[in-house]
Amino acid sequence: MEIVRAIGDVRSHLAGVRKAGLRIGFVPTMGFLHAGHLSLVEESKKYSEIQVMSIFVNRIQFNDPKDFENYPVDLERDFALACDAGVELMFVPDEREMYRDRLAYVDVDVLTDNLCGARRPGHFRGVFTVVSKLFNIVQPDVSVFGQKDIQQAVSIEKMVGDLDFPVRIIIAPTVREDDGLAMSSRNARLSPDERNRALAISRSLRKAEELLRSGERGSEAITTAMRKIIEDSNPTSIDYISVVRYADLQFADVIREKSVIAAAVFYGATRLIDNMIVDMDGGGPRCLY
Ligand code: AMP
Repeated sequence: MEIVRAIGDVRSHLAGVRKAGLRIGFVPTMGFLHAGHLSLVEESKKYSEIQVMSIFVNRIQFNDPKDFENYPVDLERDFALACDAGVELMFVPDEREMYRDRLAYVDVDVLTDNLCGARRPGHFRGVFTVVSKLFNIVQPDVSVFGQKDIQQAVSIEKMVGDLDFPVRIIIAPTVREDDGLAMSSRNARLSPDERNRALAISRSLRKAEELLRSGERGSEAITTAMRKIIEDSNPTSIDYISVVRYADLQFADVIREKSVIAAAVFYGATRLIDNMIVDMDGGGPRCLY
């Protein structure tokens, strides 16, 4: 695996690959890799021959400076994991390389109105700006994002469509620990007790599935049942528990079409998110989480 830190080195490394007609798959990350990140590389291999990953803890997407300062980092471990997973080119820029005297930003309306967009001012603008830069640097054929960050994935799909980025976006399923906790780099920040309490989030999604299967379609009834489970786990605070339509991520009172049920909860200083896609095609609800 080649590790490069300069934009020019990414371009020169990939020029030959592109000339040889090989397709480039790209997985952008903020590092502290886990099986969720590596599953995106596996997915990317279905559509491409050369795997590129980036690790960049993108300051401009952190609305909370303390969250940025405390973000876990272990590059040596990440390099070993990525190499084993078949990543051929690892791009690890520093802040100077990415942002000298930046004034340009990329944003997406509507899809960022609710959920994390409402709770984390500036967050998505930071995400879309860095992902746009990375797409222009790597020029991938395909790029894979996790369902774990569903609002991010859906908005990036819209961004590349609206701005004509020549890249195909794939959304891959959330990878979980055996006990149901969605994998996240931030899980490393949880105390054992917080981690145990945080299981309530995935439990609340299972409850939502149970209610949907028994015929419930009302968002209020579903989120109330989820809130009860999460409140019982003594969270530090609940950022949101919401039901939105998949198509535009606007609130839905009743689940009639493809939807997303999503939650964001603090345990201590750590903010965790999780979600379930509810597919209403073909009769009954199909829950993906
Ligand atoms: P991050 O390093 O947290 O910015 O995440 C980089 C990519 O990995 C994003 O596309 C995330 O959605 C994805 N990702 C994070 N956690 C998981 C997970 N548990 N399962 C699948 N994908 C994930």
